[in-house]
Amino acid sequence: MTFKTYVTGFSRIGENRELKRALENFWRGKISQDALEETAQTLRKKHWLTQQNAGIDLISINDFSYYDTMLDAAVLLNAVPARFKQIDDELARYFAMARGNDDVPAMEMTKWFNTNYHYLVPELNREIKLILDAKKVKQEFQEAKALGINGKINLIGPLTFLALSKTTDNSDVFDYLPAVLDVYTELLKEVANWDECVTVQFDEPVLVKGVDTAMAERLNTSYQRLASVSENVRVAVVTYFEHASEAVRVLVKTPVWGIGLDFVYGKENIDVLQDFNEKVLIAGVIDGRNIWLNEYDASLSLLTQLTNSIPADQIYLSTSCSLLHVPYTIENEPESMVKNWLAFGKEKLAELTFLSHVTGKKELSEDEEALLLERRNVLAAKKSDEMIHNSVIRFRMKIDLGTERSAKFEDRIQIQKKALNLPILPTTTIGSFPQTVELRKTRSSYRQNKISEAEYQAQMKAYIDECVAFQEEAGLDVFVHGEPERNDMVEYFGELLKGFHFTQNGWVQSYGSRCVKPPVIFGDISHPEAMTVEWIRYAQSKTDKPMKAMLTGPITILNWSFVRTDLPRSEVALQLALVLKDEVSDLQKAGIKIIQVDEAAFKEGYPLRAEKVVDYEDWAVKNFKRAVSTANPETQIHTHMCYSEFNEIIDVIEELDADVITIETARSGNELLKIFRDHNYQNEIGPGVYDIHSPRVPSMAELKAEINSRLEVLPVSQLWVNPDCGLKTRRWEEVRPALQNMVAAVKEIRAEI
Ligand code: GLN
Ligand code: ZN
Repeated sequence: MTFKTYVTGFSRIGENRELKRALENFWRGKISQDALEETAQTLRKKHWLTQQNAGIDLISINDFSYYDTMLDAAVLLNAVPARFKQIDDELARYFAMARGNDDVPAMEMTKWFNTNYHYLVPELNREIKLILDAKKVKQEFQEAKALGINGKINLIGPLTFLALSKTTDNSDVFDYLPAVLDVYTELLKEVANWDECVTVQFDEPVLVKGVDTAMAERLNTSYQRLASVSENVRVAVVTYFEHASEAVRVLVKTPVWGIGLDFVYGKENIDVLQDFNEKVLIAGVIDGRNIWLNEYDASLSLLTQLTNSIPADQIYLSTSCSLLHVPYTIENEPESMVKNWLAFGKEKLAELTFLSHVTGKKELSEDEEALLLERRNVLAAKKSDEMIHNSVIRFRMKIDLGTERSAKFEDRIQIQKKALNLPILPTTTIGSFPQTVELRKTRSSYRQNKISEAEYQAQMKAYIDECVAFQEEAGLDVFVHGEPERNDMVEYFGELLKGFHFTQNGWVQSYGSRCVKPPVIFGDISHPEAMTVEWIRYAQSKTDKPMKAMLTGPITILNWSFVRTDLPRSEVALQLALVLKDEVSDLQKAGIKIIQVDEAAFKEGYPLRAEKVVDYEDWAVKNFKRAVSTANPETQIHTHMCYSEFNEIIDVIEELDADVITIETARSGNELLKIFRDHNYQNEIGPGVYDIHSPRVPSMAELKAEINSRLEVLPVSQLWVNPDCGLKTRRWEEVRPALQNMVAAVKEIRAEI
């Protein structure tokens, strides 16, 4: 018995982030559209052939994207918001939708389920007529076919597409379901002519959130229809990140060919297999979003269990989700102990084919036997490593559990107001200033020992000086040092902590051309020395304005890392909270009065299933509070979250009890703030007044309007003024005028008040 193999989706950014480079060069006008297209084609080809050579039976087509596959789906459906219609050039229009341009703001962007991947939120309204634009799919299909790739076409499923869309005229997103189904039906009819048998994968991760009666009905309608368009087209509905039991019960009664289920993050899926009948099971057994070696013995027994319900020839062995969420390959990593424990995208392909070959085999070949044995040995050695279990840390985890600050908010804020003496509508930024080419060069030269520690320090300090001087000149109220020493807000801390491993090439796409290199938390976490104090102390010495220190919160470090699976996440979070707690004390001792603890990724750690939320909220809140629990009443704790959906978590935000929270609101207007008002939220808030994801510089008038609109919702005494998020991805040419305009706008408003 050999299972067939299937990969939900693959990396698109490339082994060496080739796509990132090409995109950024194209945006800067350094390469032509032809050159960009050529890079894209080369990457697609390489990615297909890599999967084919690894022996994968069904390989994704249309998982490539210049920016984001939700955006691609919007284009395929011609769901182009009116403000982009006057842009004739298709690619320019596409990038304008993604990034905005001088004339039009971008579409909203938000996080894809509980990952750090961002998608663009499609905008629908009654004016938009959905019509098929199959160009991209067709081109990529033909490219693959010419290469002899046995492919399946990836599409965002209609329900996920709509559930993640928003309407701009208060119609209901699901009003558009018939229209979306019409377009998809037409597409499938076309696809039916492209080959004798084409598999189409509809990604429907939204189904893992649970399926109520209305959704069940939509699910049934959609796939009754899509799965019966043509004999030549077989439809797979793929779910991931959790179990999809409710959806399975509906889907098995439709004519779909296959159903994809995640057995790594949705173990409960096992319970619905009896209902499968003759359907094909696409069984996600290889973790598509974490980087640990597969535990073959566990997988093999899982697979045996699956075959109790479903015949082996009806099973495709698959990744639990798209490999978009893991780095490309460990091949380019330097040797290290931890490297031996890792499997990235390419290695996961090999794991898949290995498992598919050995499952249920009575006798393994010598090679297979050796591989299995080697894997057992590596995993056993890992378990007994000292770095994994540190008894001092384990002891502190039992006794150092306090979470409360010494005073209540209403008392703290009075003390802080006196101590800080800020004007109304205090202005600040979120932490980072532009990461210039020179900065990156300096950091990398330092890493490679090409420049001395002293030289490195001098250059970083020079940059901090520039940031301070600029803030002084612009007239901001609360300063930041600019984060020049940080490549990434999580990586920076991880590098200073024990228990973390850093890859050299472990890049994962976050949005568009932006990639992150998540640290690997493999062992118990401790910190040998203070991590930020010297930089902040230096920056504070250069100004009389309060310098806000920047820390990354425990939950964000956790959610943006690849985390060990041999300890509960709540325990890893506790270890992080304890090291941050020490850092807060150290900063305070160094005379720092404001400390921002970023929790940019607080929300993406939320379980997708409602019944699992309470537990997460409980330990996430406790560990944030624990991290700042040693802050004195006069030390002002800020936190920052960069997204705009707070409806469901407003109670939790309140429980965090940060003195000030800065949030993203520029793309979503005032709706968000109303939630805070309606909730009678008392602590201070800095709702972002302009979108930093776009290079566009907002004018002073525009900013004034934004600030005034915030004032319609919340009292002036509660409000701060700041951009949506950190400025590191922007250029100084954009940042300078934008912040100057922001401060000027505030000054006018103060005068008016
Ligand atoms: N302090 C960080 C910065 O300014 C916050 C980044 C974020 O929220 N993603 O870059
Ligand atoms: Zn942010």
